[in-house]
Amino acid sequence: MHELQIATNIISIVEEEIRKAGKTEDIEFVYFIAGKMRAIIPESLQFSFDVMKRDKPYLEDAELKISEIPIKIRCKNCKAEHTLNEPVFRCETCSSPEIEIISGDELYIDSIEFSDT
Ligand SMILES: [Zn+2]
Repeated sequence: MHELQIATNIISIVEEEIRKAGKTEDIEFVYFIAGKMRAIIPESLQFSFDVMKRDKPYLEDAELKISEIPIKIRCKNCKAEHTLNEPVFRCETCSSPEIEIISGDELYIDSIEFSDT
């Protein structure tokens, strides 16, 4: 399962951050950015995170906040930009298939909030 692997990565990165920051407070929120291109199911990632965090010190009460970034394309032909609701990789203005993806490919932890802040 794709989401389980991502949840595992998130938790190890967060643990590394706790170590580096030398913090002893619990984590309250983990803000995660997921581009729509990555086809993450937020509920599934949330569930995996909640299962994995249970036996982790500092993470028991942590909540994963997922922000999804829409897919945006720019047409190489007419330079128009469009936000896609479905993965149809073609310019809506001139119908050219010559497009570049300008967002929607993200997959990273944006920030971590400790319970003292
Ligand atoms: Zn175009």
